[in-house]
Amino acid sequence: MEIKITKAPVLKEKPDSSTLGFGKIFTDHMFMMDWNSEKGWYNARIVPFENLSIHPASTVLHYGSEIFEGLKAYRRADGKVQLFRPIENIRRMNNSAERLCLPQIPEDLAMEVLTTFVDLEQDWTPSAEGTSLYLRPFMFGNDESLGVHAVHNATYVIIASPVGSYYKEGINPVKIMIEDEDVRAVRGGTGYAKCGGNYAASNRAGERAAQKGYAQVLWLDGVERKYIEEVGAMNVMFKIGDEIVTPMLSGSILPGITRKSCIEVLKDKGFKVSERLLSVDELGEALQNGTLKEAWGCGTAAVVSPIGELCYKDVKYTINNGEIGETTQMLYDTLTGIQWGKIEDTYGWTKEI
Ligand SMILES: *Cc1c(COP(=O)(O)O)cnc(C)c1O
Repeated sequence: MEIKITKAPVLKEKPDSSTLGFGKIFTDHMFMMDWNSEKGWYNARIVPFENLSIHPASTVLHYGSEIFEGLKAYRRADGKVQLFRPIENIRRMNNSAERLCLPQIPEDLAMEVLTTFVDLEQDWTPSAEGTSLYLRPFMFGNDESLGVHAVHNATYVIIASPVGSYYKEGINPVKIMIEDEDVRAVRGGTGYAKCGGNYAASNRAGERAAQKGYAQVLWLDGVERKYIEEVGAMNVMFKIGDEIVTPMLSGSILPGITRKSCIEVLKDKGFKVSERLLSVDELGEALQNGTLKEAWGCGTAAVVSPIGELCYKDVKYTINNGEIGETTQMLYDTLTGIQWGKIEDTYGWTKEI
């Protein structure tokens, strides 16, 4: 498909790498493409970054039909820019679309528009240690009608934002609260889809945890509130004895690409990795008898985020003296090494722009 490019008449000044936060500054352009149930995808275009104009009855504003992705472009030491496993984001977006009755994008087309957009905006990829260009593809139902049904019109957009190093002052373990009231997702629901609605429903627990001084919540399953699911916007892993345990993908957990990458690296290095049910009781026992050696969250933003303290029903447990453990550190070094091109990518995960 032809991508029509309209360049911004004036380019913005690039920000200072030391002042970058997360998702506050945006690049000069954005990618957009529309879909109609009769025409399919049409009008692929790159336009100057601007506000969207949508009808007040647009489906997304009333019934929340929205999905998104998150991935990064990394500046390598040789100056080139690369993506990390972008095909995985494209496939996951299509799985999310299927669940939300939004249109899927053929993989080749999705890859072409993503790489064309990143190529155009690549000067925005910062080069300071730990910084990157965060890419946010998203899609929303855009019918101009209040009727409730699968949508006939949708819009796909990609925006980009230079982001700072997640760990400015070194890797600090986070404190996590196990949430036993609200649930994030249920089997049969939208837990495995990356959709805005999942976040809307999880904000209340996040706020409660923040008020008590916790960075994020650890969700339990929505049926029995007994099994560990995931953390905020990260999947979660535990080192219990010599076994690495991570909740299996049951339908209510987001299948993270960082999770998948961690599992592959761990297996490669000879670790025993179990994707299985992990009850909060088993975790509590491991905390009490000292077999819980390490715990970490994993996701694109932080790569891995060591968990230094867990709170369950107002009881606080410290993990690994509140310090980052050796397995967590190894995963961080390996994944960031591949992402920024500092170590050889023997997996074929990176895609040069
Ligand atoms: C995006 C996301 C993750 C992490 O996925 P990655 O592909 O590793 O970035 C985990 N949990 C939730 C709820 C998410 O939205």
